[in-house]
Amino acid sequence: MSEPDQPAGPQPGNHVGLYPGTFDPITNGHLDIIGRAVQLVERLVVAVAENTGKQPLMNLDERVACVRAEVAPIAARSGVRIEVVGFGNLLVQCARQHGAGIILRGLRVVTDYDYEVQMFGMNHRLDPGIETVFLMATERHQFISSRLVKEIAQLGGDISSFVPHFTLGRILAKLG
Ligand code: ADP
Repeated sequence: MSEPDQPAGPQPGNHVGLYPGTFDPITNGHLDIIGRAVQLVERLVVAVAENTGKQPLMNLDERVACVRAEVAPIAARSGVRIEVVGFGNLLVQCARQHGAGIILRGLRVVTDYDYEVQMFGMNHRLDPGIETVFLMATERHQFISSRLVKEIAQLGGDISSFVPHFTLGRILAKLG
């Protein structure tokens, strides 16, 4: 007999992935993860966090627009549907809302690990029916972070090898 207080376990055959992040801005590192994620799931939801303590350079609508533009070629190439949504609620609620049974996260350096372990632990407690899957950053993209990209751009440095084309234009326009 199932216990009423326990959330349902992973739905068999639920291969819908949710890739959450701040994406301020989306970088080639994020795109690498998305390009690999679509090989693992049948539908991917990229969830752009509305509430962020990170003092974003771009507002939610701008970040969503950039992510949408950049993932379109990946969806076309792979044939996998990629939805881009903003979210301001609990991550596990957002996953449920979009029918996702898998949360995807990227792992770069050891400092990512501490944070991701905590986040995994909390999300697992909140909803054990949702599995978290980590993809390691590829060597070429290991060092790319949105935070550094923003800092370099604000100081007038060249970020063209770190961010995709549409997003680059938006950032440069924003920074004048
Ligand atoms: P968050 O605020 O949730 O950390 P980010 O937009 O910074 O949002 O990152 C979203 C996810 O993408 C995180 O799992 C992060 O570790 C991963 N990520 C960020 N940059 C890279 C990269 N260069 N390569 C692989 N994964 C990355």
